[in-house]
Amino acid sequence: MSTTTTPALDPEVLRARLDRAGAAAANADLDALLVTPGSDLRYLLGVGGESFERLSCLVLPAAGASGAPALVLPKLEEPGYAHVPTDALGVEVVTWVDGEDPYQIINTLLRRGGATPRQLAVADMMPALHALRLRDAVSGAHQVLAGPVIRELRMRKDAAEIAGLRKAGEAIDRVHTRIAEWLRPGRTEAEVGADIAEAIVAEGHTEAAFVIVGSGPNGASPHHDLSDRRIEVGDVVVVDIGGPVAEGYNSDCTRTYVIGEPAFDDVRATYAVLQAAQEAAVAAVRPGVTAEQIDAAARSVIADAGFGEYFVHRTGHGIGLDVHEEPYIVAGNDLVLEPGMAFSVEPGIYLPGRWGARIEDIVVVTEDGVERLNNTTRDLVSLPA
Ligand code: ZN
Ligand code: ZN
Ligand code: ZN
Repeated sequence: MSTTTTPALDPEVLRARLDRAGAAAANADLDALLVTPGSDLRYLLGVGGESFERLSCLVLPAAGASGAPALVLPKLEEPGYAHVPTDALGVEVVTWVDGEDPYQIINTLLRRGGATPRQLAVADMMPALHALRLRDAVSGAHQVLAGPVIRELRMRKDAAEIAGLRKAGEAIDRVHTRIAEWLRPGRTEAEVGADIAEAIVAEGHTEAAFVIVGSGPNGASPHHDLSDRRIEVGDVVVVDIGGPVAEGYNSDCTRTYVIGEPAFDDVRATYAVLQAAQEAAVAAVRPGVTAEQIDAAARSVIADAGFGEYFVHRTGHGIGLDVHEEPYIVAGNDLVLEPGMAFSVEPGIYLPGRWGARIEDIVVVTEDGVERLNNTTRDLVSLPA
């Protein structure tokens, strides 16, 4: 399977995205964007899928450049793109068969009307296999990354995208409200994780993209996933889970649980610091504030309480068709937040060898503030021992 079935997007929405991408490409002094399957293509054409050794590629001329957008596809992949409204979008479909050179097809497209391509942007995640062959085929054209152009579009979500994120948020919230069904002493993290993964799909995702169950000392490792460690009474357990819904938009939500009463005396007071930090960061979100100010809002609460060195990652990441995308909520990022930007707010405190905790919500910047897409309790939830 090269494509996934995406609920049809209004062709008007896609058309506006293609137009904006073409205009942004012109602003960046590019002749064209070359976009292979992946989340950028899904954004522009509403079609999922991955890249293979046979080249599939959208050739999107910059506004003002000659020629219409063209979708170059191996003939055998064409059925997977049947639901893309190419006619309505004015996208020409150009198929090729084994034995033909798709890179030369693109070279020819780029030289229509006597044009001489000088600067081409290739999708960030285009396989090197294709990027280097395109570089050789389109001689004289310099290649740059398309990410800086496309990210300006993808970072500012429209209403349909926010609806997709909201649906994903509600689905993962339903999983978190059911954690007591699976997270019990005596079971391994892997057993608990397998049940959670099933529930992620049952509650409305197309797959479980990631399942982190960090129990006891494993909770102090932020990207721990699953192990054969058995859950014990008194464990603090970090559960960080998510995946995409059919529209392609992802959920990502962390809650921290405790089995009975925590085994360590410092858990409740330290968790209260973390909760205050997460609250302060979310409360700081509104248009006009910078990404690094949100990071600072969380970090200062944790640092003031003496735990600064135990908060070992950025406060958050953008989310959409990718689980991690722009904007990153990190020191040094002076990006000014705008309505439609969506990202995680997920401070953590990690005490090596002992326990850890993280609280993560996805939030969206609104016209005058913030909307949280995760709404289950952020308290330390005590489960039956
Ligand atoms: Zn992560
Ligand atoms: Zn997460
Ligand atoms: Zn996250």
